[in-house]
Amino acid sequence: MNSTRSKEPANILKDISKCVRCGSCRVLCPTSADDPLEPLGARGRLMLLRGLLTGKIQPSRLLNERIFSCLLCGACTGKCPLGVDIPAAIYYGRALLEKTDKKRGFMRAFLRLSMKWPDLAFSLARMSQHFLVPALAKLGIIPFSHALPEIPLRRLEQVFKVQKKRGRVAVFTGCSVNYIFPSLGESLINLLQQLGYEVVLPKGEVCCGALLRSLGLEDEAVLQAKKNYQVFSRLKVEAILSLCPTCTMNLKFDYPKMIGKGLEKAMDISAFFRDKVEITGGIGKTAFFHDPCHLRYSLGMQEEPRELIQKAGIELIESRDSGCCGFAGLYCFYYRDRSRSLLQRQTKNIIDSRADTVITSCPGCILQLSQTVTDRPVLHLVEILEEAYCYRQADKKSVLKAQMERVGEKP
Ligand code: SF4
Ligand code: SF4
Repeated sequence: MNSTRSKEPANILKDISKCVRCGSCRVLCPTSADDPLEPLGARGRLMLLRGLLTGKIQPSRLLNERIFSCLLCGACTGKCPLGVDIPAAIYYGRALLEKTDKKRGFMRAFLRLSMKWPDLAFSLARMSQHFLVPALAKLGIIPFSHALPEIPLRRLEQVFKVQKKRGRVAVFTGCSVNYIFPSLGESLINLLQQLGYEVVLPKGEVCCGALLRSLGLEDEAVLQAKKNYQVFSRLKVEAILSLCPTCTMNLKFDYPKMIGKGLEKAMDISAFFRDKVEITGGIGKTAFFHDPCHLRYSLGMQEEPRELIQKAGIELIESRDSGCCGFAGLYCFYYRDRSRSLLQRQTKNIIDSRADTVITSCPGCILQLSQTVTDRPVLHLVEILEEAYCYRQADKKSVLKAQMERVGEKP
């Protein structure tokens, strides 16, 4: 396979070798906070990878656990004064350890098949959602079950036209919006159209590859990256928007490391809408904004979503101790207790804030937080923007508005 991986061992080792073991990368590492054992933190994992790459440490079940128990949240990278790319080293280590890692073997086989026939996998999951999926969740084999929609968002090539065209954008739906939360994608399309943007959902989008990479399936992820690059790079659009920060991070920053070129127009919605939506208050609720890790650490966006929420007339109640929700893709499947303890911590922050609503900007975080935050809505930023811009302007009462009203008094 003609990927950039052939150059990687030396590059990764060179990058790891810059480490002076200062420990700054441990400060925000959620797994370090949960367990101070050195190999369960960013610095410890790097040292183990150094040992693996230099042949001083051999693959083992314990080593796999240390390397696969990283959330790939990216909190460590920005903290390193020498710029060591710790998640890149972890991805590389996982690709090296994949063959010896039996624990996730079934999931690899399942994902390989799902990537080949995604719509068939969706239909089977949908057919079994009323008996098999809840039973598996009850037995603790999967962390939770969630109702699936009748049909995915993406079908063939879709172009949503507008009368007075201000611009043209593409939407990268990602698997979570396409197969679990298509209504979020519909909100995004509606908002874009109201603002005068023609919206394209091109034929041929495939999974961004993040889940495959997290399991060490680098070659399969490279294949997905090439397909997406081919589909999206040919489009004449102003931006490629995704409602999932992991997809955006992957398209924009990880594809160059994987295939030597990235989709530079990939953008988070808060960056795109920041100077485009004119909204002047009105929703009048209080909210807790949960920062998705990849939005905060990899895309560097904290101010933009908050600014938009405040523009919509929502009072933000901040928590000083806000952190990861513990979802992290497949992390919540394999490290159930640790994932749960991160979720409980963030739930406590939310309850203590006494905010009416929780707003985030990642479908995975919504899935995770909705398990324990059941007394108030957990919403995606795009729903707030749609409410503030499309419905309040037209003086219509949206589904969201009704949902927010049903929440009742503050807890
Ligand atoms: S990516 Fe996150 S969990 Fe993994 S080592 Fe870095 S800070 Fe820790
Ligand atoms: S912050 Fe950078 S230099 Fe310091 S221990 Fe972590 S990786 Fe090494």
